[in-house]
Amino acid sequence: MRTISPSPEVIHGHRPPVPAARKTSCEPIFSTQTANSLAMIIITRPDATEEQIQHIVSRIADWGLRAEVSRGEMRVVIGVIGAEDKIRQKPLGAFPGVESVMPVLKPYKLVSYEFRGTASRVKVGDVVVGAKEVVVMAGPCSVESEDQILSIAQSIRDSGAKILRGGAFKPRTSPYSFQGLGKVGLQLLAEARRESGLPIITEVMDTKDLELVAEYADCLQIGARNMQNFSLLREVGRTQLPVMLKRGMAASIKDLLMSAEYILSEGNFNVLLCERGIRTFETMTRNTLDLNAVPVLKAETHLPVVVDPTHGIGIRDFVPAMALAAVAAGADSIMIEVHNAPELAKSDGEQSLLPKDFDDLVRRVRCVAEAVGRAL
Ligand code: PEP
Ligand code: MN
Repeated sequence: MRTISPSPEVIHGHRPPVPAARKTSCEPIFSTQTANSLAMIIITRPDATEEQIQHIVSRIADWGLRAEVSRGEMRVVIGVIGAEDKIRQKPLGAFPGVESVMPVLKPYKLVSYEFRGTASRVKVGDVVVGAKEVVVMAGPCSVESEDQILSIAQSIRDSGAKILRGGAFKPRTSPYSFQGLGKVGLQLLAEARRESGLPIITEVMDTKDLELVAEYADCLQIGARNMQNFSLLREVGRTQLPVMLKRGMAASIKDLLMSAEYILSEGNFNVLLCERGIRTFETMTRNTLDLNAVPVLKAETHLPVVVDPTHGIGIRDFVPAMALAAVAAGADSIMIEVHNAPELAKSDGEQSLLPKDFDDLVRRVRCVAEAVGRAL
């Protein structure tokens, strides 16, 4: 199945342009998967007709099950999700055009590579993550002021970044540290989006803030400390907004995949997984960027993989080396903290690049991307 090559048609996460104050429905688009749910995959024959595929899909819907169609270059894979007893009774292998039917045995089912049989692409605004082009996200750790975010947005865009990052709700180790500007920060991000044309990614820390953050964000960030906040995962799963899920600092790769499964199981397949470093016995760096996770995730899941070398190593001078290594390892996107006056930053100044260093890094990222068959 791994031979099925990615198709440009497998794009989700697209949503129409939405005006400044945007509504996001938090209604589930299909009922939550239960402990008795099962995922099966139907692999169609290379010569299956569109009519045969549509027939399978509509039968599955008539049975009250959900079908997820993924189109590879050679064949179509139909993922079927629903109650185990219902699925088991159905003669899925008997449809014309079907080559084989098999259960997804991995504990992460919807997230597993075989569920789609092809790499997924997720759209953030108009930017596609998971295609040949490596997507650079950049911006300050925290949104601090209008001047700060507008100036950084413009400079990172001119250097080649495609998505603007900035925290309005900040998870801080100390309750006495800057906690973010909240709604004002979101409004400033929206202004920076208008001025720069870049879509924005920003963190949502709590279910109570989701409606507000979803009005502004093009992509929701779930931070490392919230990777296993299951009620938050379920709530973002009930939107169709792209979600970037960061790996917890003490979480295994499997834990990350299981957390992503919470989001997909609520109906939102627009998920990016982010490696951001884990805690180890090492004390010379802030975290240990686990680049092992990149090829492992690319093999285990169809979801695009983002690497955050900034939090991964935590030291400005060493961020570029790890960003280049992440692209060489196969990351679909990298996220870099950039600040126009790092010494004055209200959070993470010591690991933020100056705009000119970011500009230099993007040039080198382009060379590495091209060397590994990608583009920028
Ligand atoms: C951040 O992106 O600024 C952040 C707080 O990240 P993490 O959740 O990975 O620590
Ligand atoms: Mn930060």
